[in-house]
Amino acid sequence: MQNVISAEIISVGTELLLGDITNTNTAYLARRLAVLGIPLYRQTVVGDNAARLTQALEEAYSRSNLVILTGGLGPTCDDITKETVANYFSLPMEEDAPTREAIESYFHAKGRSFTENNLKQCLVPVGATVFTNSWGTAPGIGIEQDEKYAVLLPGPPHELKLMFEETVLPWLSRLSPYTIYSLNLHLSGIGEGAAEAILRDMMDAGENPTVAPYAGEDDVRIRISARAENETKAREMCEDAARKIRKTPAGKYIYACTDTPEGAAAVVERTLLALFGERGLTFGAAESCTGGTVCQRITALPGASAVLQGGIVSYSNAVKAEVLGVERKVLDTFGAVSEECAAQMAQGALRSLGCDVAISVTGIAGPDGGTSEKPVGTVCFAVSCAGGATHTCTEHYRSGLTRERIRRLASTKAMQLAIAAVKETGAGEA
Ligand code: ATP
Repeated sequence: MQNVISAEIISVGTELLLGDITNTNTAYLARRLAVLGIPLYRQTVVGDNAARLTQALEEAYSRSNLVILTGGLGPTCDDITKETVANYFSLPMEEDAPTREAIESYFHAKGRSFTENNLKQCLVPVGATVFTNSWGTAPGIGIEQDEKYAVLLPGPPHELKLMFEETVLPWLSRLSPYTIYSLNLHLSGIGEGAAEAILRDMMDAGENPTVAPYAGEDDVRIRISARAENETKAREMCEDAARKIRKTPAGKYIYACTDTPEGAAAVVERTLLALFGERGLTFGAAESCTGGTVCQRITALPGASAVLQGGIVSYSNAVKAEVLGVERKVLDTFGAVSEECAAQMAQGALRSLGCDVAISVTGIAGPDGGTSEKPVGTVCFAVSCAGGATHTCTEHYRSGLTRERIRRLASTKAMQLAIAAVKETGAGEA
């Protein structure tokens, strides 16, 4: 692979030409290319028109060898970017099985059905690199042919940014004259906006390394990316920025640090297993609305048996009372979705599973079952440590989230609480 001589950006969308939306994607991409040390010489906007896009591609490749396109990857017939670029490179399209699986499960989680139109989004040019889309349906595409490179990104800015940071940046860094190294700091208990407010000065000041928060699937991530002559130097720059961030008010929310896109997957369960493993602690769960999701996510990883003692899916009040020992008066007075009930569930799990740390989750994942006092999205948690205190808390997940999303977020939160409890109490420390 040769270094890129120069890059161009083509933004696709009639809405952009009409001025209905502002082209923020190009501004973001231009800044990221600067960090990569890839010279960007032109930016073009074309409407949803295959002939004009083909002409824009021909012109761009007559001058440059990397073209980044954004938008027009959706399922409708005016989304023409992928087909037009595939035609330009004379590449036939084929269905990408992981993309189909990801899109089907995305629709399933949202309670929507997969339509014929969506089949179009599962097609990728033969031989292309597929960049998965963690927040939407359209995957991104990377093409490399005869020293010409194309990167196709979805239009919605949050999808584009997350994809760019996680998968495109490492892909493109091979074309850069520099080494790019990135660290992710994973935060729990704080939103993307609040993290951004704390880090604003660092974000504004940071050309190299850059610092930016992103909402990931499970948590908020602060992504630090540095450019240097070699990896050691770039890593030192990232670590230095990470140390500064740990000293800000955002520092106390950091529960994990990863340095690869693969490392950012399943980060909460891997952090839990590593921490408990290091300290020789065992873990157990009493799950109501998450129905075993916590245990399922932990057991998906090798090495779970050294830590996970077991789990009890205590869905009914009878099981909460009889198996976990939740008192009837707690259920009658406060209800099954209450911190009082969560506390007794965690204590019951600790006793019956014989583990060092147990968590509990009880909530209303919807779509039915909410009340004005406890709307859908209300989830209560507890974490109990052997010989120690029980801590409880409640999350109010925003309305509009699907049942699956609430269950996912609640299972993440439960594991984050267990991690925080072990760190705070020093449990298992030599
Ligand atoms: P989808 O899969 O959601 O249809 P897509 O890749 O087809 O995505 P478009 O349909 O082109 O993308 O755009 C979707 C939305 O993304 C637009 O309505 C707009 O809100 C936003 N968007 C698109 N392009 C840009 C841009 N260049 N800058 C900022 N926002 C953009």
